[in-house]
Amino acid sequence: MRGLNFVCFLGLLVSQSGCQTSGVGESGFTQRSQPLLGTYVTVTVVGCDRIASLAAVSEAFEAIRAVDARMSIHRTDSELSKLNAASPTNYTPISAPLFQVLSEAQRISRLTDGAFDVTLRPVVDLWGFVWKRGYKNPDPLMIEDAMSTVGTRFLELESGAVRFAKAGMSIDLGGIAKGYAVDQAIEALRRSGIQNAMVKAGGDLRVIGAPPGKEKWEVQIEDPTKSGERQVVYLRDKALSTSGDYENFFEQAGRRYSHILDPRTGRPATLRGSCTVIAATCQESDALATALLVLGPDRAHSMESTAFQFNLLTQGKTNRWRVVRSESFSAATD
Ligand code: ADP
Ligand code: MG
Repeated sequence: MRGLNFVCFLGLLVSQSGCQTSGVGESGFTQRSQPLLGTYVTVTVVGCDRIASLAAVSEAFEAIRAVDARMSIHRTDSELSKLNAASPTNYTPISAPLFQVLSEAQRISRLTDGAFDVTLRPVVDLWGFVWKRGYKNPDPLMIEDAMSTVGTRFLELESGAVRFAKAGMSIDLGGIAKGYAVDQAIEALRRSGIQNAMVKAGGDLRVIGAPPGKEKWEVQIEDPTKSGERQVVYLRDKALSTSGDYENFFEQAGRRYSHILDPRTGRPATLRGSCTVIAATCQESDALATALLVLGPDRAHSMESTAFQFNLLTQGKTNRWRVVRSESFSAATD
């Protein structure tokens, strides 16, 4: 998960109020940030009732903490860590949220011809990306060995239960759980009666409704070319995620090794750049942004879909930047 140097910035438009003398400040916004999920999570809600807004925000953080407690591989007591340790060869019941995320991970894996693969964990570990320390370029034989347990087809799901079809398999939800946590926070806000809000966790965010007096939320995507130009995207009831090769990586002999691995090779994806995806849920946008960075521009184009939009910014061998985007992505920039 990424640190502070995230790629999306929230542009809040606080000029229009809508609140009378409620004591919530001019804007009617309530915004809180907390370090969670290995990044900073910011919850922004629109509402004139300060106490109700604060209660809703705290429910949202609670929902995120619950996902982290269940799906983090950095906590030995999480449901996921226990599942990995048990490595069940017979069908074993799991919680509904974990079943839902694993099912969605499988669906995205099929949709992307295996470019998204949560069974990569043993290989992610080999490269040192799980703990973000002790990075190394592993021996090819070790990669080959670890790759023998990788493949979403070995992850079998049925009626609320899971089975690992290969000994030594291990699951890493680092490419999807953050998005799912954002979705859960949005659900918590809705349950609290909030209709206009944004939840942002590093490069993953989701919005409902719009800020007061506006049709849509304005989100700025940082330009990885560092030219200072930021792409502005307008969103309503949508999720947006950005994955980049510059978030968690190490360099050796002038080469960059990024934390996004290509499941076909067990090695870091070779594409330089970043990918932004807009989708209905943050679970989807999170996983798809990772997968499209693996697949690259041509394959991404062949996947044009009405279900999601992408903007892929890549740096070629000559260091020239190239933008490839789905036609529908442009619509989000107006
Ligand atoms: P971040 O978590 O920094 O927002 P991503 O959403 O792109 O970045 O997720 C990257 C994480 O997903 C990696 O750190 C690793 O745990 C896991 N991962 C790496 N490659 C893949 C892949 N091809 N498919 C699924 N998960 C992956
Ligand atoms: Mg992601």
